[in-house]
Amino acid sequence: MKTPYHDIVICGGGLVGASLALALAHLPLDICLLDPAPCAPKPRADDRTFTIAQGSKRALATLGAWPRISRDDFQPIAEIEVSDRTGRLGLTHLFADELGVDALGFVTGNAALLAALYEALGETRVTLRRGRFGGLARDDGHATVMLADDQEGARLTCRLLVGADGTHSAVRDACGIGVERHDYGREAIVTNCRVSAPRPTTAFERFTADGPIAALPIGDDRYTFVVSRPDAAQWQGLDDGMFLDHLGKAFGDRLGHMLGASPRLRFPLIRQNARQWVAPRVVLIGNAAHTLHPVAGQGFNLGLRDVAVLAERIAEAARAGTDYGDGAWLRDYARAREADVANTTRFTDGLVRLFAPRLAPVAAARAMALNLVDGLPGLKRMLAVRTMGLKAPLPKLFRGIKP
Ligand SMILES: Cc1cc2nc3c(=O)[nH]c(=O)nc-3n(C[C@H](O)[C@H](O)[C@H](O)COP(=O)(O)OP(=O)(O)OC[C@H]3O[C@@H](n4cnc5c(N)ncnc54)[C@H](O)[C@@H]3O)c2cc1C
Repeated sequence: MKTPYHDIVICGGGLVGASLALALAHLPLDICLLDPAPCAPKPRADDRTFTIAQGSKRALATLGAWPRISRDDFQPIAEIEVSDRTGRLGLTHLFADELGVDALGFVTGNAALLAALYEALGETRVTLRRGRFGGLARDDGHATVMLADDQEGARLTCRLLVGADGTHSAVRDACGIGVERHDYGREAIVTNCRVSAPRPTTAFERFTADGPIAALPIGDDRYTFVVSRPDAAQWQGLDDGMFLDHLGKAFGDRLGHMLGASPRLRFPLIRQNARQWVAPRVVLIGNAAHTLHPVAGQGFNLGLRDVAVLAERIAEAARAGTDYGDGAWLRDYARAREADVANTTRFTDGLVRLFAPRLAPVAAARAMALNLVDGLPGLKRMLAVRTMGLKAPLPKLFRGIKP
């Protein structure tokens, strides 16, 4: 049987891989998106919600995905309250109207976002291929992907293979690329709760002695809570009443009482960076390249900037007839991503470390740091620009231009 040939195979059809497929879809290239389940999840199948920065929303709109998300499925954030413990010590506020924007960011569901991306992909020539990456062979000009599971023996050949297959990337392993990994020794519990005193456009980031708690508004009286805890497994096992009681004590009373909660999901908290993001004929993006602590909701937003820069460069190379699978070209892409990834990693890791320790003098210092941020408009603006994903230089997709 003849091996199917594509210009680019994207392995992994999560948020990042699907976004890249869409960003390349209008170019005169043959693109294949490979995933064990390359389709939109059923609505509400995954309750996780994400903070989408202003810049990322603009990029998703440029891709034609954002307008497909129904107004009931996203919530604009007009205010972010960042505080120590119950919000009475150190405190800083970011307000959209002070910064002259309609929203600081948006909260939307993983399922709604994936559904929008796949609906848009359905109107393109991108091949959606069901299958699991099982191995890799390379020669000078091509990469050949071997499929696993029930498709053993099946292959796909391409000029460039993109590994967008998440934190445990099989593409990365097949290239022999190791990782630098830090385990925060905590897990995140994610749950959607109803609250008695909602503030539907305010998001909260609380730094408690046990780890950060984010509360993200998802409409009406509902909030998604992302709670980082060393004893997350125990919290997951609590009955609903006890869980809500624990959550209320940890978060404080800014949203009144915690009412009903959805089933709790648990995620390990790590920071991981692949030692290289490129190998012959291969490039890693999104969580396959770098995984962050979810504090401040930066992971997908950062992966989307990989997408924007890679798509822009592939478009330039394709127009100029340059080989975008060539080693020097790939290394150049990796260099272009270094500063943003390093700065975003430092930002999230720094937040976790600054606010983690239990020591009283440090607690006082972090309260002071927050009050300082609140009092210095320049510093506050810097924090806001990063939170909104609008830090220059912005790639084309983030400026509303298709690559
Ligand atoms: C609790 C929590 C909250 C978060 N909140 C936010 C937030 O508010 N904002 C934000 O920006 N980020 C957030 N993140 C980070 C965000 O979830 C990730 O950065 C993002 O989902 C990474 O997308 P990805 O497509 O790179 O990887 P994934 O979402 O992991 O997708 C990988 C894809 O690869 C496929 N795959 C895996 N193995 C193979 C294989 N062998 N062959 C083919 N396909 C394969 C999988 O099926 C999957 O579809 C959060 C993370 C956590 C844990």
